[in-house]
Amino acid sequence: MTDFAERIERATLAMKHHGVDALCVSIGSDLPYLTGYRAHVSERPTILVLDADGLATMVIAALEAPRVDNRPDVFTLAPWEETEDPIAIVNGLLNEADTVAVGSQMWSRFTLDLQARQTTRRWVDAEDLMAGLRIVKSPSEIELLRAAAATVDRIANEIDGMQFSGRTEADVSREIADRTMAAGHESIEFCIVASGPNGASPHHTASQRVIETGDAVVVDFGGYQDGYCSDTTRTFVVGSPPSGFESAYAVLKEAQESATAYVRPGVTTASVDAHAREIIDAAGYGERFFHRLGHGIGLDGHERPYLVEGDDTVVEAGMAFSIEPGIYTAGAWGMRIEDIVVATEDGAESLNTSNREYRTVS
Ligand code: ZN
Ligand code: ZN
Repeated sequence: MTDFAERIERATLAMKHHGVDALCVSIGSDLPYLTGYRAHVSERPTILVLDADGLATMVIAALEAPRVDNRPDVFTLAPWEETEDPIAIVNGLLNEADTVAVGSQMWSRFTLDLQARQTTRRWVDAEDLMAGLRIVKSPSEIELLRAAAATVDRIANEIDGMQFSGRTEADVSREIADRTMAAGHESIEFCIVASGPNGASPHHTASQRVIETGDAVVVDFGGYQDGYCSDTTRTFVVGSPPSGFESAYAVLKEAQESATAYVRPGVTTASVDAHAREIIDAAGYGERFFHRLGHGIGLDGHERPYLVEGDDTVVEAGMAFSIEPGIYTAGAWGMRIEDIVVATEDGAESLNTSNREYRTVS
């Protein structure tokens, strides 16, 4: 049985467990998880309908059908012509289903249209059902995450040799993105270069600010390789570090490494966050670490589980997530260290292994 056929079978079992008669998934990562096909984000809907017997039908615009790798053991293709009504086709496939789970990323206009055509049906969010399938990665998925991580690590280790001072953040960002693409990524989803005071904004992107000697620079980048995501952060210093940086960095590195060592099956993701936070709190930087410790990763850059107070997901071998504490001093500097780790029976394995020390650039 192929990976995809096995996933359809598990999805069908999960539907029974959730009391769902049919499942509709569209754009986003649920569709490629089940079929290997990532749909265009478009006003022409692509919708996979999975019925209670495990029969999967992909309703897709005929002009996009050639993009699909046909997998007859997994799904049947139902192409629609430009003048046809795809929602009517989906509604026909839903047939007698009383309860339908809809992928959380399907456009609301398609969901609302479906609801209007059969008003007695019950509609539920497929988020829990699909996350339950996707949260533990298979060995082949872990290999894809490992390969994506190896590519960004290679680039992270090259950054030492790049010139920073006198260039804009945007210029440095473009160079890192280009190198990552050349090294094997098919897309770059983000390439944060946050220098000096911009480093204190965790989701700063890359601006026209010219990087100066004495700046700390947070570099956080990632994208897709063979359908799976990378995401890593390292912090650089141009010349000598700003005031207060070195002592804070030692705390940050200890928190990142200690949280990684703390991961093992049976602990909650919230407790991993709490573990890192305790170390940063104890050193007096608690208020300067104001975001969650991490997020799951796979076909999506951010997916379950989340390492944050209140997320009581119990870690299982095969879960993949980031561990990325940061310390931010408003108006001055920021720092973050981010690795993707995979939980194993023996603890966490870091997929990112590039040098975690802050490194000096010119
Ligand atoms: Zn990141
Ligand atoms: Zn991240």
